[in-house]
Amino acid sequence: MHCIVRAVAFSRVAAVIGLVVAVSTSLPYDPAISQTRISYPSRPITVIVPFAKGGPTDVVARIVAVEMSKTLGQPVAIENVVGAGGTTATQRAARAEPDGYTLIVGHMGTHAAAVALYPNLGYRPDADFAPVALLSRMPVLVVARQHFPAADFGEFVSYVRGHTHLLNMAHAGVGSVSYASCTLLNHLLGIDPTGVPFNGTAPAMEALAAGQVDYMCDQIVNVVVPLRDGAVRAYVIASPQRDPALPTVPTAAEAGLPAFEVEAWNALFAPKGTPDWIVAMLNTAVVRALDQPEVRNPLIGLGGIVPSPDQRTPDALRARVQAELQKWGQVLKRSSH
Ligand code: ASP
Repeated sequence: MHCIVRAVAFSRVAAVIGLVVAVSTSLPYDPAISQTRISYPSRPITVIVPFAKGGPTDVVARIVAVEMSKTLGQPVAIENVVGAGGTTATQRAARAEPDGYTLIVGHMGTHAAAVALYPNLGYRPDADFAPVALLSRMPVLVVARQHFPAADFGEFVSYVRGHTHLLNMAHAGVGSVSYASCTLLNHLLGIDPTGVPFNGTAPAMEALAAGQVDYMCDQIVNVVVPLRDGAVRAYVIASPQRDPALPTVPTAAEAGLPAFEVEAWNALFAPKGTPDWIVAMLNTAVVRALDQPEVRNPLIGLGGIVPSPDQRTPDALRARVQAELQKWGQVLKRSSH
């Protein structure tokens, strides 16, 4: 058997970024396979967002998808499939055809915390997906309704400890970032509120702004605007540093709760079995998107962190999922006692 090295130029992509993918294979030349490679993507790509429109996962996905579609030469359409803290959609994506046309935005909840929260989760975050690229890193904040009777985090802590059974905590479903983050917070504070699930933190934020629930833990992109509008209040950010988008909000460590440290992230995944060269093309499209001002400006303006080049590779994402599975397995085990 002889080895053939083929270079396949993707006409549309090459026109935009001059991308040339070299495919090394020990198989004999097959015109049908070659044709498939040349023609991907030949139709719109669907990116499943496992939460409601307008929330943090959705916002990140939509900002990046617009730029990806310019590179790939096909629309990259967002489909919101909600339920069960994002795990319903993630299970569906795990079973989708691995042809590069169905992808999912997973995150610290769906691809890490959910494993510790569902004994019979219908997918394995590490084994059932081909990691494509990290899209964003996201600080998490504790936010409360506008008239919550606490001026700062110290007063928040006193109040929630004194009123634990009267409290309503909003979240985006068991398995979500908001649920996992506040599970840690509640454990650290020794409180046990009533959880109120929503299909994402966009509707949860609406309920919070309307004063229908008391507090939640949310990713910063969903907090900046309602906070500036005075619709909600923010007590702490669960990061080692303050965020330039909200410089007056203290870190949890500054406010006396250093163990409350959480960083959310959103990332693009394909179903396991998606050919490496398709994953490489998609990764190139994400990497290019993350360098565009059309992506960087809104993400950074809303408090997000754009992943550095070394954090954008499929291998870096694979390692992140492994590390986060470990971390959240331990955190949630401790927090449920
Ligand atoms: N991803 C968010 C969470 O896990 C929800 C959302 O994006 O709406 O809390």
